[in-house]
Amino acid sequence: MQGIKERKSLRLIRSIDAVKEPTMKDRGKSSIGSDEYYRHVEHYAQQIRHTNDVDEIINILDLVLSETRGLQLNDEVDTAQEQVHHAEQKIELLKNEMEQLRELVHTDQMTGAFNRRGLEEIFVREAARADRKESSLCIVLLDLDDFKKVNDTCGHQFGDTVLMHLVAVAKETLRPSDIIARFGGEEFIILLPDIAMEAAVSVICRLQKTLAKQCLLQPDDQPLSVTFSAGVAIRRFGEHQNTVIKRVDEALYRAKHAGKDRVEAALT
Ligand code: GH3
Ligand code: MG
Ligand code: MG
Repeated sequence: MQGIKERKSLRLIRSIDAVKEPTMKDRGKSSIGSDEYYRHVEHYAQQIRHTNDVDEIINILDLVLSETRGLQLNDEVDTAQEQVHHAEQKIELLKNEMEQLRELVHTDQMTGAFNRRGLEEIFVREAARADRKESSLCIVLLDLDDFKKVNDTCGHQFGDTVLMHLVAVAKETLRPSDIIARFGGEEFIILLPDIAMEAAVSVICRLQKTLAKQCLLQPDDQPLSVTFSAGVAIRRFGEHQNTVIKRVDEALYRAKHAGKDRVEAALT
């Protein structure tokens, strides 16, 4: 048994040798000594040091948090209990910061849509889900029409407003389970899970109509109706992200060449 004074130095991370131990919960009881608590936390801290994956860090913090919450040190020393409580608050804070970081890493700051990195992760998740459930996953690539002209005549800042407006209208129009991501510049990818081609095309046509109706006022107070062209594809079973994006890109190209403000289905 250690003395009370030594336990007063309870800190979240104490430098000790790496340990490979079952979790605190694995032990089947929630009453442990503070030394044991240090060892478990150090074990988790090592796992955190060895990963760059924000999701994994959040999972580990969640685990530490849930275990710290359920913890009662068997020595019942008030100071130690207080410090465990303090550690719990710090872990909670860190977890919130990591969650904010994850959002920053996956979001396009200007429009609030997912960015390419976010899209890649969501695509992998949605594609796996579609393959597992044998359900469909629709991919739409849309590109604003004559956007360079908008920038040239109304200024870059107004152009930015148009991009934000498009994302806001898309979020209002689409289902909560649909995803919108900024693919680059004035190009966006929309993922529509569980939908057939015909229905997907009519969803995107509806978005075009809503956008056309909700005009933006240009700096000279003239209304501007924004249009876009789009390519739509239903992902084939097991199809890779790059292949399906190539197919929608070809369909988008056809939509532009057919006169813009159109939706074209990709070749299967
Ligand atoms: P098309 O109808 O064929 O798509 O023509 P377009 O003018 O839309 O396409 P183009 O590729 O010629 O021009 C895209 C423009 O988008 C050029 C670029 O300056 C502008 N752009 C890209 N990113 C941003 C941004 O973040 N903000 C603003 N305001 N403009 C952007
Ligand atoms: Mg473009
Ligand atoms: Mg364009």
